Amino acid sequence: MNDESLVALDRQHLIHPVINYHAHEKRGVTILESGQGAYLTDSQGNVLLDAFSGLWCVNTGYGQNSVVQAGEAQMRKLPYATGYFHFGSEPAIKLAAKLVEITPVSLQHVYFTMGGSDAVDSAIRFIVNYYNSTGQPKKKHFISIERGYHGSSSQGSGLTALPAFHRHFDVPLPNQHRIPCPYAYRSSQDTSPEGIIAESVAALKSKVEELGVDNVAAFFCEPVIGSGGVIVPPKGWLKALQNCCNELGILFVVDEVITGFGRTGTMFACDAEDVTPDLMTMAKGLTAGYAPMGAVMMSDAVYQGLADGCGPDAPVGHGYTYSAHPVSAAIALEVIRLYEEGLLANGQAVARHFEAGLMAMLDHPLVGDARSRGLLGALELVANKNSKARFDPALKLSERIATAAYKNGLIFRAFTDNVLGFAPALCYTKEDFDILFERLKRTLDEVL
Ligand code: PLP
Repeated sequence: MNDESLVALDRQHLIHPVINYHAHEKRGVTILESGQGAYLTDSQGNVLLDAFSGLWCVNTGYGQNSVVQAGEAQMRKLPYATGYFHFGSEPAIKLAAKLVEITPVSLQHVYFTMGGSDAVDSAIRFIVNYYNSTGQPKKKHFISIERGYHGSSSQGSGLTALPAFHRHFDVPLPNQHRIPCPYAYRSSQDTSPEGIIAESVAALKSKVEELGVDNVAAFFCEPVIGSGGVIVPPKGWLKALQNCCNELGILFVVDEVITGFGRTGTMFACDAEDVTPDLMTMAKGLTAGYAPMGAVMMSDAVYQGLADGCGPDAPVGHGYTYSAHPVSAAIALEVIRLYEEGLLANGQAVARHFEAGLMAMLDHPLVGDARSRGLLGALELVANKNSKARFDPALKLSERIATAAYKNGLIFRAFTDNVLGFAPALCYTKEDFDILFERLKRTLDEVL
């Protein structure tokens, strides 16, 4: 089938996630055809440097043969095994044990999902169940962070705090609340690391006080606020929030869907600050995008609450046909082996080229802020560097930049508020970063 027919069929039938439907009908789809290492090739034969790892997920890079082989071998042996009715499969059991080994010590039990949104949704359902099971049925309020993203499930989308995910969807729900984002670049308060940490802790305490601690179930946060504009809180922020939740007696849930699996330098962002959450959600880098899979992990205390709450013979009614899918599990085991065998170390080694490249972009007249942790970073473009004024949305600058970058052979995420997000794969070399920043500079100069 030629490109034109595919574009027409796409227009007629395929609903894409998170786009303006009319704009997409006008523009048409861009078809990606193959990938190798950090590079993608589209159906027109254009070769593009992927500086976003697909959707912050292909942490290994494309074309990892051993991952493909692991998936194929499992598909031939046993493509599906239910987790219902006490059945299971070897890769899923091994993966659960592996995840317990590589995540913070507090996390001892794993529930598999198909991605991040259902991992967050499962976490919410387990938390509600936990409090009902342990005689605390009033604890039903959830707190998250402005600009946070926790997926687009019916409940998780209310913890997400981005307007597009709320508009027309009747969320947030009445039991979902937010505290301000630790957005140093745009804060009018004390922007020292201590100031930012103190502000978040004070905001969480005051929100819990306002709601009444007996009514608050949990606090959800991302270690780096990803889809909200790659906002990087200072070191110590996550630990301070954990301590605050522990003191208050509410569950502390860390959403590592983006930050997990080497993205911020350590295997998990929690590791850098010795954070031990009560629950953790993950997806994306777990399988590096080679198959869909996510997970929610929980402490023994939460698990025991759920188990004891079941009573002698009633099941916990939460499950998916594709929980613990053996092919995804086999793929995840191989992907984790690659991280441990050298990709994590490579990501750590090349991150300095990434950081240096981003910081050098501060000399560009359009760039107001540059921020990163590990291989997760952003540039914030402003109309005026002194006032930090944003560009008029009517200029559609982000869109123009994304289009120009594509023509220059580069893909990254241009958020609508003129934040450019980057999440290069852990397999990047210094030369890949040289190419990235040369193409990026050329692109910004062209749209200036
Ligand atoms: N949580 C975070 C922090 C995310 O960034 C995302 C997706 O980007 C999700 C949850 C939802 O994951 P998924 O898109 O796999 O449903």
